[in-house]
Amino acid sequence: MMIRTRFAPSPTGFLHVGGLRTALYSYLVAKQNGGKFILRIEDTDRKRFVEGSIENVIQSLKWAGIEIDEGPYIQSERLEIYKKYADELLTNGHAYHCFCIAERLEDLRNYQQKNKLPTGYDGCCRELDQEEVKKRIEAGEAHVLRLKMPKEGKTTFIDLIHGEVSFKNELIDDQVLMKTDGFPTYHLAVVIDDHFMEISHVIRGEEWLSSTPKHLQLYKYFNWEAPQMAHLPLLLNPDKSKLSKRQGDVAVEDYIKKGYLPQAMINFVAFLGWNPGVEQEIYSLNELVKEFKIGKINKSGAVFNLEKLDWYNQQYLKNLKNDELVDVCLPWLVKAGLATGNEDKQWLASALELEKERITTLAELSEALKFVFVSPEYDGGILVWKKSSLDEVKKILPRLAEFVDTISIQDWNKEKLQSIVGEWIVKNEFSNGSVLWPLRVALSGQENSPGPFEIAGVLGKDESVKRIKSAIERLS
Ligand code: GLU
Repeated sequence: MMIRTRFAPSPTGFLHVGGLRTALYSYLVAKQNGGKFILRIEDTDRKRFVEGSIENVIQSLKWAGIEIDEGPYIQSERLEIYKKYADELLTNGHAYHCFCIAERLEDLRNYQQKNKLPTGYDGCCRELDQEEVKKRIEAGEAHVLRLKMPKEGKTTFIDLIHGEVSFKNELIDDQVLMKTDGFPTYHLAVVIDDHFMEISHVIRGEEWLSSTPKHLQLYKYFNWEAPQMAHLPLLLNPDKSKLSKRQGDVAVEDYIKKGYLPQAMINFVAFLGWNPGVEQEIYSLNELVKEFKIGKINKSGAVFNLEKLDWYNQQYLKNLKNDELVDVCLPWLVKAGLATGNEDKQWLASALELEKERITTLAELSEALKFVFVSPEYDGGILVWKKSSLDEVKKILPRLAEFVDTISIQDWNKEKLQSIVGEWIVKNEFSNGSVLWPLRVALSGQENSPGPFEIAGVLGKDESVKRIKSAIERLS
């Protein structure tokens, strides 16, 4: 059997990180079996449609490296199919017209809640006389189509994550299948589409678990084989409440804007509710395709832990090869007006080396690396090391500037500079700190920065000497 999975978001806004996880798991299941991953847009609820969301989903998936094999299929373009199968249900007595208006349903709900009864439709129109139904429709009365759910027995199925799940049919609502506006509801459309798109595995959020018996009943009525089902655990805030905007970003695009690497995001999201049961934590998308096992997904909710995401991002940043590092970082530097894009790539890589292990996200990059591109402004007071004095710095820096100017260009690299300046310190009987601290501050303009020789290597001789001289001026 061909493995076919789908990601079926409703276009109600941005792609949620939970959606990214659903898409990723669906993608992994398809790819590890040589199958296909399909994108379907479930836009039958017109009131909730948000302009631009389809593009947002597609772009976010692309950013993450999740390739779509088929689609997007758009449900609002498939209305005829849903209508056809709704009619079939009606003809076969598996669905019925319902004229209950919103007001009545609300009253019913209030009554049920007040009396602590299970809420749901009471089947008022379930046994209406066919003649009456015909008359009311002809008279133009608004109506919906409802599923005739059996009132006895149970619906039992095997969920790939939850195992055997069972629901009493009497507690399951006669779900609306077609709305007054002629659009199907999600429940009808999802079954018809999953069938005709030959979906083998439905992987989706846990909030749909309780709808599954309705869907399975539809499969039965249509005489279709149901796909396998897997309902993913909820994503939780660190305080174990359901993941919400209030406690942090939930849109994938927010993480893109903040400068997280797609590889880090994917790796992090993969581990929300799944782990391979070994110590290894770093997995590329390809490795995930190989190692992911749907049966190993946890039932319980997964905490969305931003510190872990930061950790992943740092790991991936650290491990980028020089050319990848430049490709990933350059756009951020250009956007910040620091780089032009015409810089020597090798030089850029060495500049990025300075900060790549010191930052968490790419959004921090330009601020961190600004001192390389722009002569720093700072207060001369920070040139004085804590175990030194202003007088001592005033004495040392001019001599250092003079000495550094004598170092040949051939020796101008981190390693050589370190040994040459090191010898000079020993020869002059200075302490390391009293020389290296002001040198480092002179080059970076910061109390905390990468080491002086790394920076000097990147800045080059002329710029380094210039900065030491400028530091001397700041001391007076
Ligand atoms: N359109 C549903 C959603 O937005 C998809 C549910 C499903 O995958 O069946 O969550």
